[in-house]
This record gives sequence, C-alpha cells and structure tokens, in this order.
Amino acid sequence: MNLLLYGAPGSGKGTQANMLRSRFSIPHIATGDMLRAEIQAGTELGRKAQPILAEGKYVSDDIMIGIIRNRLRQPDCEPGFIIDGFPRTVPQAEALDALVDELGKGIDRVIYLKVPVDQLLHRLSGRLVCPTCQRTYPPGTAACESDGSALVQREDDKPEAVRPRIEIYLEKTVPVLDHYDVEGLVSEIDGRGTIEEISRQVLEAVGPNGTAPAKAAKRTT
Ligand code: AMP
Repeated sequence: MNLLLYGAPGSGKGTQANMLRSRFSIPHIATGDMLRAEIQAGTELGRKAQPILAEGKYVSDDIMIGIIRNRLRQPDCEPGFIIDGFPRTVPQAEALDALVDELGKGIDRVIYLKVPVDQLLHRLSGRLVCPTCQRTYPPGTAACESDGSALVQREDDKPEAVRPRIEIYLEKTVPVLDHYDVEGLVSEIDGRGTIEEISRQVLEAVGPNGTAPAKAAKRTT
C-alpha cells in the first residue's frame, strides 16, 4: 500500500502517519524529519537546509526529489510506504509519478487532512515536539508520553515562521491536490475531530487491510 498524507503544516499528518505505520508495518517517510536529521548531524545538506527551514520556506525541488528517489529505493519500501510532507509542489508531484512508475509501483491513495487556516495558526503556535521521536503535543505538555524526553518548540513553529509556512503551502502545495484529484485518488477527511475519529476515517479510506477502495471519497473543495 503506497500512501501520501497531504495537508497543511499542523493538520495532523504525523500523528496519522504513526498510526498507519504501526498498523500496516510500512515505513513513514517524513521529508521534514529527514531534513531535521541532516541539520542535527551537521551534514552539507543540513547546513544548506537549516536557514530555509527556520524561515518556513521550501527546500529546492531538485534536492527534495533526490531525497525521495534514494529513500523509495530502500528495500523496506518494497511492501509499501507512507509519505508525509512530499510532494509539496507540482514539479515534485510530477517527479514522484515518474519515480513510482520507474519502480513499477503506483500511488494507491492520497489522504487529505483538511483543517481551516485559523485553526492551523492556532495549533502551530505553541505546539511542542519530542526531539527524540518527533511526536507533537499541545502547549503545556511537559514530557513525551512515549520516551519521556523533555519537549521543545520547533524552530519553524515560532511565530515569525508559522505564517510564511501557511502562505507557501497555500501558494505552492494546494495545486498538488488537484494533480491527484484528477486521478480520483484523493480522500478528504475533516482534520478537526478527535485523533481517534480521524484515524477511523483514515482507515476507512485506505481499506481494512490497506487495500484502498476503488473510489476515493468526494472532495468538498
Ligand atoms: P514539515 O516537518 O513537513 O513541516 O517540514 C518542515 C520543513 O522542511 C518545511 O517547512 C520545508 O522547509 C522543508 N520541507 C519538507 N519537505 C519538503 C518538500 N517536499 N519540499 C520542500 N521543502 C520541504
């Protein structure tokens, strides 16, 4: 089962990706996490990416396509994958189409977690993250429930970066949805409910054993 999780920053993609990963035992490929790991390790890519992430801008399509190209070729992606945070531009989506084709695969379902912009702004400012497992938590939470790490605020969740992240999403990433909608692959899910309710709808969209139903739920926008 090859899935894309689509939604604005703060829409809950990471949370649902974790649920899908443990349920179907396929890798969760989060391009933002991969870039943060490069920054942490102080690699050349990390040094280039750091100021771009801090300002809430996008890393170049060439770099991102290269990262995904290498990742999808790893043997653990053979039974399937969940991509979170890619493609974020139409050229990235076109490159992904060509890549999955080359690998003899396809995209089975695009899960769109829809959350209104005012709620995204509210969720992102003040959100805390576990530096060990990247799980996110609401403001005021002290430690990670999974591993006990002290929570921190992501550099790009600081107020000066939050608005540019939403703006670039609206400008460059919203058109990606149309790209997949044409193929009937998009399942739109209201991202405002409880985590459990959203997970239930995500599982319904991907099918009981990860065999996505033939037709995606209709989009409202
Ligand atoms: P995320 O954790 O998905 O919100 O990603 C954090 C940041 O990483 C984004 O704000 C971008 O700066 C960068 N990034 C992650 N994925 C991509 C992508 N597919 N294209 C361009 N930049 C990306």
